[in-house]
Amino acid sequence: MTPLLNADLHCHSVVSDGTLTPEALATRARDNGVELWSLTDHDEIGGQARALAAAREHGMRYLSGVEISVTFARQTVHIVGLGFDAEDPRMVEGLSRTRGGRGQRAREMSEQLAKVGIQGAYEGALHFVGNPELISRTHFARFLVDSGVCKDTSEVFRKYLTDGKPGFVPHRWASLQEAVSWITLGGGVAVIAHPGRYKFTANEEYALFSEFKEHGGRAVEVVTGSHTPAEYLSYGEMALEFGLAASRGSDFHSPDESHTDLGALPFLNPKLTPVWELLADRIQ
Ligand code: AMP
Ligand code: MN
Ligand code: MN
Ligand code: MN
Repeated sequence: MTPLLNADLHCHSVVSDGTLTPEALATRARDNGVELWSLTDHDEIGGQARALAAAREHGMRYLSGVEISVTFARQTVHIVGLGFDAEDPRMVEGLSRTRGGRGQRAREMSEQLAKVGIQGAYEGALHFVGNPELISRTHFARFLVDSGVCKDTSEVFRKYLTDGKPGFVPHRWASLQEAVSWITLGGGVAVIAHPGRYKFTANEEYALFSEFKEHGGRAVEVVTGSHTPAEYLSYGEMALEFGLAASRGSDFHSPDESHTDLGALPFLNPKLTPVWELLADRIQ
């Protein structure tokens, strides 16, 4: 299949921290010319059947999707899974365990925010949650914007929700090996999401790519909403260096918050192997 495909293999619905339903996302993707789509909610595959049905209705090809939270070198890394069996019990149980600590973490975040004068953040964030098992920092950010504490979500993350700030609670997610294995055991391909967003040293980044490959990971996001054009080039080179395929996805969350719309990305460089070439028999 051509690298010049309008594939969008990374976005979020109300089933995690997006603001649109799987159906509304499918309509928006189709309207924006997406030809191959995947819904990749954080640590959750509860929206997959709806996304697939909506994709079919619009004549879009579909790959099952998820974005798994992983702890690597004391930071959170995201691993996108594509084309796996969404009913495989190893995936279903693994994700359920990964989601498990979010409620407690959210209460601790709220306690810390109360100490800096922000009351009721847990209850406030809950108003924005679509899936009670998936309360995330994004929901806190929406509450803090809605209640006038900050002007937008990026200010909330900068002032409150990132490492060293008053509302940040460190959390232990899945291991890299676990996440890659849940995806690959179910016939899918594991993808390092938005590598340009991590604050790794060159050595740590090298370790991430090498260990990911050793565990069976096969692709990296090269063209994605949070990458600069320079990063399209540098991570394209990394893909070639490590023998990884390349993925493309907007990471769209919300019409009000996301800078990159569904499908609105440059094409992959044709010298890269597109991840959909590895997944030809998994496309639905
Ligand atoms: P969590 O999984 O609860 O740690 O929340 C992570 C989510 O927060 C990410 O998937 C993004 O949607 C969002 N996020 C992280 N950093 C930022 C940022 N600087 N600005 C806006 N949203 C962010
Ligand atoms: Mn998110
Ligand atoms: Mn992510
Ligand atoms: Mn994402």
